[in-house]
Amino acid sequence: MYPNKITIQTARGLLERGEVSAWEITQACLDQIEARDDDVHAFLEVYADQALAAAQQSDERRKAGETLGVLDGIPLAIKDNLLLQGKKCTAGSKVLANYIGAYTATAVQKLLDQGAIILGKTNMDEFAMGSSTEHSAFGPTKNPRHLEHVPGGSSGGSAAAVAAHMCLAALGTDTGGSIRQPASFCGVFGLKPTYGRVSRYGLIAMASSLDQIGPITQDAEDAGLLLSLMQGSDAKDQTTADAVDFEPAWKKDLKGVRVGLPREAWGAGIDEAVRERVQAAVQSLKKLGAEIKEVDLPYADEALAVYYVLMPCEVSANLARFDGMRYGRRESAATLFETYAKTRSQSLGAEVRRRILLGTFALSRGYYDAYYLQAKKVQSLIRRGYEAAFREVDILAMPTTPTPAFKLGEKTGDPLAMYLSDIFTVGANVAGAPAISVPCGAVGSLPVGLHLIGKWFKEDELLAVAKAYELEVGRGNS
Ligand code: GLN
Repeated sequence: MYPNKITIQTARGLLERGEVSAWEITQACLDQIEARDDDVHAFLEVYADQALAAAQQSDERRKAGETLGVLDGIPLAIKDNLLLQGKKCTAGSKVLANYIGAYTATAVQKLLDQGAIILGKTNMDEFAMGSSTEHSAFGPTKNPRHLEHVPGGSSGGSAAAVAAHMCLAALGTDTGGSIRQPASFCGVFGLKPTYGRVSRYGLIAMASSLDQIGPITQDAEDAGLLLSLMQGSDAKDQTTADAVDFEPAWKKDLKGVRVGLPREAWGAGIDEAVRERVQAAVQSLKKLGAEIKEVDLPYADEALAVYYVLMPCEVSANLARFDGMRYGRRESAATLFETYAKTRSQSLGAEVRRRILLGTFALSRGYYDAYYLQAKKVQSLIRRGYEAAFREVDILAMPTTPTPAFKLGEKTGDPLAMYLSDIFTVGANVAGAPAISVPCGAVGSLPVGLHLIGKWFKEDELLAVAKAYELEVGRGNS
């Protein structure tokens, strides 16, 4: 047995029965990081000594018949836009290269309270803007399945770390697909919760009305476990909803479940091999008893355009704080204005500056109505489209991405091509609905993901479908 290659649920059982120690699991993950991370570059920082010390404490607690909670002794990784008190938090940006977290993000704290061990921080596109992790100021992460290909992004480091068994699971963040797209590219599970399910306190904001923290895991059950622990209202994030007794109703068959295939998502532009794998996955759902039907998702085609207006607008406001005065790096210059300009032009990457410019333009006088306001209106139409579809079906199914992982460098010169890899994922963010990417085979060595979108706050149903599928075809990441 390789104690780094197990799910959280398996680890819990082994730990409870004393068949493995937290120290052994943690050491196995660290060994794997040592063996593979020079090539993969999933981590920006690893807290090896601290993690081993925490593991030892966990083992001692357990020997004394005590545990902090259900994650006691389980090593996890977190994306580097999540604050951990006393640790560097760069968000993949040069401007925050030496920034130290002043407090711990609520979602992370909830896992720590259950005894989780944080192994380190994972690489990401700068401020979570990107689909390949190539926009990190600290160099790209590679896809552990195929080192010439990208792991996806922006949570590419987290997805790669889980896929390469450097941790048992990881946290990512998803504003337009950044959990699901890398999970799909790396062959693991990635869940974006309903907007408001998990507190964003302590997450470095990209687009606050769309951002959500979520788990990247080896299976559906682990995703459900982490979500159930992280959810809940938080006085420090006014958009959060109360925690519910959240227990996915695991089922072996899918009788009575209505799965909709949005016509808009199955049109042109999908790689034929991807289409074939995802169609086969839908056939498996049917075999399990699900009722499959085509549905309309009105205005779904507009989701990418709406996202690329709303998101930069929010980015331009959120990133105003990185001005060389309040946070992070400062370039010295003669006047205040020059200091702002020099700091922002030298410490923020090209993609980030592009979005700040686009957002500032779209929000400026005379353009606000034409862009931001218009996009907000279309967002309502999109949301209503989802409401209509969910009157007919329980779950929507489509590919997570139109192609498998592309090659490093393939899209860095063409932002639009990069943006198009989010074509199927952004809709769930614009509508605020929960969605998951489930591994469903591969094209050669490159994994393919089945994308399932569920009703608002019905992650339990979403996970039950994902789990039934997983039981039928296997997990896919050995
Ligand atoms: N790839 C998308 C973007 O570049 C999504 C990013 C995200 O979800 N954080 O904006």
